[in-house]
Amino acid sequence: MENETLFSEDTEPPGTMTGLVVAQNEVTDFFSSPTNNSQPSLAKSKPERLYFPFKDSPRSRAFRKKHYPDISRIEWFDWRWQFQNAIRDVQVLDTIIHLSDNERQAMMHPSGDLPVAITPYYASLISTEDPSSPLRRSVVPVVDECLHTKGEEEDPLCEDADSPVPGIVHRYPDRVLFLVTDICATYCRYCTRSRIFGRQHQCFIDTAKWEKALAYIESNPNIRDVLLSGGDPLTLSDEKLEWLLSRLKDIPHVELIRIGTKAPVVLPQRITPALVSMLKKYHPLWMSIHITHPDELTPEMSAACIRLADAGIPLGSQTVLLSGINDSVSTMSRLVHGLLQIRVRPYYLYQCDPIPGSSHFRTPISKGLEIIQGLRGHTTGYAVPTYVVDAPGGGGKIPLLPEYATGWDKGDLLMRNYEGNIFRYPDNHAESKDIH
Ligand code: SF4
Repeated sequence: MENETLFSEDTEPPGTMTGLVVAQNEVTDFFSSPTNNSQPSLAKSKPERLYFPFKDSPRSRAFRKKHYPDISRIEWFDWRWQFQNAIRDVQVLDTIIHLSDNERQAMMHPSGDLPVAITPYYASLISTEDPSSPLRRSVVPVVDECLHTKGEEEDPLCEDADSPVPGIVHRYPDRVLFLVTDICATYCRYCTRSRIFGRQHQCFIDTAKWEKALAYIESNPNIRDVLLSGGDPLTLSDEKLEWLLSRLKDIPHVELIRIGTKAPVVLPQRITPALVSMLKKYHPLWMSIHITHPDELTPEMSAACIRLADAGIPLGSQTVLLSGINDSVSTMSRLVHGLLQIRVRPYYLYQCDPIPGSSHFRTPISKGLEIIQGLRGHTTGYAVPTYVVDAPGGGGKIPLLPEYATGWDKGDLLMRNYEGNIFRYPDNHAESKDIH
């Protein structure tokens, strides 16, 4: 197996930081191949020597030399090393980013099920001194997570109610969400699915559960589109992921496979040449990349996206609107323009879902509308994501737009343009309507 070959020479990566051995053991099984011998076997991937042959940024190089002096550049660029050495321990994190009392308390007394894990690469992007900096707030817990306010629910989108078999959410007629894992390389504090991470016995990396989910998809000819999500599907080994993709590809009515991931952002080393050559066998394959802030647009992340785009994988972004993190027109402009440069089309801007302890992240709806208004017309439409509220109660994604249509007058539609000027369109084919 790929990982066995990789680690047979060196079972524990040298320079592993104190306190991380437990975390490493927790993920050992994670790299193993599908265990059910009845499953089709796929060709073994060759071990890669240069996992991510891109130049590291001066920032990440300086960080590695300071905090991981015994780790070589090759190890740093090995996604498995990054994954296994994700920072979970309060003492380790404190040596890197000087935790505030608030953060330290939140790490020592977690309020919910959402674990803490931050890849060393992503830690290198975080402000060491400022607890209010955007990337730090998105991955380091604070005590506000204990504050549960009105309207918050563990499963606000009622995904569990739309789950006919474990791992499948079937809400829309022609597509399903397939939750293939409950593991991420780095955990976002505002995660909609934070409820799944603490369910000790509900781990989705279970081939028996995958088989049931695949059987459900096979038996529903209306399903033409499958979105692999979790957790993060790109934390699976190439071998496991290919097993899933090949099984889906064999289902005649599945026309499209999509992958939702944050790996290019928190673990860009994962986008190896071997991964992209495997993925491109399963076209049409689309990818939605979860990105939060322009500070995540690093040389490494850009190289990962360009590599995916070069493999013909259409890339879209998904961003959660977060108070004090990305809730301004200027921040969002920098983000969407940076994304277009690396061939990622801004796709969705989500209103933050009301999970327990999320009030410090949520913005008023007017903020999302203000951002869309600040983008639309001021830049190309390719840069403007669709702003949606995923309706609590299971109503699905509902798009929200600033009020561009202001009414009718003598059969004309009155419209406001991006500069605030009113224009008329002769809506001759519609029933006559007037402004009231
Ligand atoms: S990467 Fe996605 S699934 Fe994982 S913690 Fe972040 S939002 Fe949740």
